[in-house]
Amino acid sequence: MVRATARADACSANGPVPRAAEGVRRRELLAGAALLPVAASLAACSRNDAAPYGGGWVGAQVDRGHKLRDSKAGTWPAPSVQRRAGAIVIGAGISGLAAARAFAKAGVDDVQVFDLEDAPGGNSRGHAMGGMGCPLGAHYLPIPGERAVEVIELLEELGLRRTEHGQPVHDERHLCHSPQERLFIAGHWHDGLLPPVEALPADQREATLAQYRHFGALVAKVGDGCAFAIPTARSTWSPALSALDAITFGQWLDAQSLNAPALRWYLDYCCRDDYGAGAAQVSAWAGLHYFASRHGFHAPGDGSDDRDGVFTWPEGNAWLSRKLAAGIGDRLHTGRMALRVTEGRQDASVDVWNAAQAQVERWTAPRLVLAVPLFIAARLFDAPPPALTQAVAAMRYAPWLVANVQIREPVVDHPGAAPSWDNVLYDPLLGSSVNAPVGPSPTPRLGPALGYVDAMHQSTRPYAGPTVLTAYWALGGDNPGQLKTHRARLLNEPWSAWAQAVVTNLLPAHPDLPDKITRIDLMRYGHAMSIPVPGVRSGAALQALSDMRGPVRFAHSDLAAYSIFEEAMYFGTRAVRG
Ligand SMILES: Cc1cc2nc3c(=O)[nH]c(=O)nc-3n(C[C@H](O)[C@H](O)[C@H](O)COP(=O)(O)OP(=O)(O)OC[C@H]3O[C@@H](n4cnc5c(N)ncnc54)[C@H](O)[C@@H]3O)c2cc1C
Repeated sequence: MVRATARADACSANGPVPRAAEGVRRRELLAGAALLPVAASLAACSRNDAAPYGGGWVGAQVDRGHKLRDSKAGTWPAPSVQRRAGAIVIGAGISGLAAARAFAKAGVDDVQVFDLEDAPGGNSRGHAMGGMGCPLGAHYLPIPGERAVEVIELLEELGLRRTEHGQPVHDERHLCHSPQERLFIAGHWHDGLLPPVEALPADQREATLAQYRHFGALVAKVGDGCAFAIPTARSTWSPALSALDAITFGQWLDAQSLNAPALRWYLDYCCRDDYGAGAAQVSAWAGLHYFASRHGFHAPGDGSDDRDGVFTWPEGNAWLSRKLAAGIGDRLHTGRMALRVTEGRQDASVDVWNAAQAQVERWTAPRLVLAVPLFIAARLFDAPPPALTQAVAAMRYAPWLVANVQIREPVVDHPGAAPSWDNVLYDPLLGSSVNAPVGPSPTPRLGPALGYVDAMHQSTRPYAGPTVLTAYWALGGDNPGQLKTHRARLLNEPWSAWAQAVVTNLLPAHPDLPDKITRIDLMRYGHAMSIPVPGVRSGAALQALSDMRGPVRFAHSDLAAYSIFEEAMYFGTRAVRG
């Protein structure tokens, strides 16, 4: 549990709020609630003592990471323990767990894995509320394409995939049940996430449909061949892709005259959902990769279904990270933060802070895999490799908020599509402000909110009952100024203000939500994932880092310029197998 420090008023109660201390009642929440930005919620919070539900910050030991950032060379105690290992992995996210798995498969025993948090999994960790599993971060894995061989191998090992008559067959019990996704727009729920033209103002329908079709055709054209593969290292890179990586997706869309508000809202939503920041920040390569690497883009009525099957579990991808971690046993050390890495000719050493014992341990091995974000890796070297310094200088990291909202009974629904796994609210404000001048904004708009997934959607119980709604907020914003502001707010504003903002955001679709909440647990990520901003994917630095073949190797999904499960599995495995 992390304590917010900025405000000492009653809003900074980060632990459970006793129901007796209820301050904000439902009527107050509803009054003027619709479409209030976070700032307004924060103001409301400062007038009221506490929220009518319990909860707190969970999952991240923010103070540990900041201690590493703020520490000066020589300020940590000298190592009190010195050990040797067969191999060392720093970071127990998916990439680190994949590296440990690859070492074990290569016959290297005595692989020691270290992570600064108290549980393995990194961005793919899980949580539980009222006995119900829910995600703290990543929540699904699409059925992998044939180039994601590391993921296919893992799925086969876990019994989730087999081959019958030459065709892959996936275990239906772990695939997302129907209905998968729906969009709340103009007071109705609609099947799928692309705004249906019939829900738009009459004067926008024809032009929007034409732009949907045009964008679909452009995606099909650029996606021909092997240009967009997952993992991206297996795509055929070309000068055309470098050109796409040199501009933002927003600039590219403007150049194609693709400006229909509904299309721009949807594309912006997709960028925030996958990359943590909007189309004004990610490169055109990344914006197109989202579609061209998987299912394409299908305009309504073009005869295709653009929905891939996805694996999902109540606890999200923690189901996968726990399976990966299980094989490591007591060689997995949590609450251990790498402080300093030194590389020799034959081996490498790491000084690790053992938080429980408040001592430094020095571990040495012939091979050391760094599966931590690159901006952290750069802090671990006295003299970082030039490619690492260069890569980090070009990178931007998106902050994220994940809110697990536990409810005691189902919320009342608006008419239209049935409750789905993924439930998204259309935000016309965002779509219509696409061409607004960018600049630091004092408050996050509603744009960062991406809707929620229902953690009990995969349950086979025959009735709708208590559940956890996991709401996602991508806080990378539209420009570096917004990103910085959001990150500072995430660190400094109290749990109660963010919890209230999350509830407020969902009120247009579920006005009865406040009455049904028992608890809200929030997970905040200051630097969750690399945003694929122009120039990062096509620059030489990431390639140079992933090609390093000395005792120290790099494995984090940052090497792909963006973060998904398949990339983490690829780079973790590659760091070991070469
Ligand atoms: C909110 C959110 C939702 C997401 N949703 C999805 C999704 O649905 N599907 C999907 O495929 N991907 C999703 N992702 C992307 C996700 O990041 C990847 O799937 C994957 O989990 C990345 O794994 P990784 O090992 O590369 O990185 P990380 O998860 O960043 O792992 C790095 C690890 O290093 C540790 N570490 C850092 N510093 C130190 C240190 N000094 N010493 C020791 N350990 C250290 C960290 O604690 C962490 O465990 C999501 C990400 C976020 C943030």
